[in-house]
Amino acid sequence: MRLLEEKIRSDGIALDESILKVDSFINHQIDPELMQLLGEELGRHFADRGITKVATIESSGIAPALLCAMELHVPMIILKKQPSKALNSDLYQTIVTSYTKGTSYELTLSSKYINEHDHVLIVDDFLANGEAATGAIRLIRKAHATIAGVGILIEKTFQPGRKKLEEQGIEVYALARIAGMQKDSITFVSEA
Ligand code: 5GP
Repeated sequence: MRLLEEKIRSDGIALDESILKVDSFINHQIDPELMQLLGEELGRHFADRGITKVATIESSGIAPALLCAMELHVPMIILKKQPSKALNSDLYQTIVTSYTKGTSYELTLSSKYINEHDHVLIVDDFLANGEAATGAIRLIRKAHATIAGVGILIEKTFQPGRKKLEEQGIEVYALARIAGMQKDSITFVSEA
């Protein structure tokens, strides 16, 4: 999506070859008009697929997921990151290990908000190694719900996230696809 690529180019900061900072319009401060357009585009792409819920991982996915859910007229659910705790029969839980950050967290979802009739679109801000999205898919499948696809604002195509998801038969739709980064220079797939 041209608009997002232009915004990344003007306001994004490539810290090195692998980490992009978009704190001024996505991760810390949010540009609401831009976010609305991004959420709507994700919703339009996945329209007419029988989606019953949009799910995201707290916290940076919440804004695009909410706007996407508004476009699809379905509820949005937040998969919560919590420290490990005793088993709770009302919660679905799965451990997500972030190899990039070297940390683990427990992703949880109350059984009140999902069931086997749900067809769920997962939305997140970034797709890198696909660990977060894979954890979200695992959690949603624990509820015997089905996955409609994964909608992403920014994909780094030089990391293996898309491959991991597509190997499981999951459709990935990303609004901006970064082919490569260097300090002060970002190349998109369309230009690579
Ligand atoms: P994963 O490696 O699991 O696909 O990425 C997990 C999470 O790490 C994403 O949801 C996103 O919040 C964060 N992340 C990954 N790469 C980047 C990046 O380059 N910049 C920022 N700001 N966040 C990232």
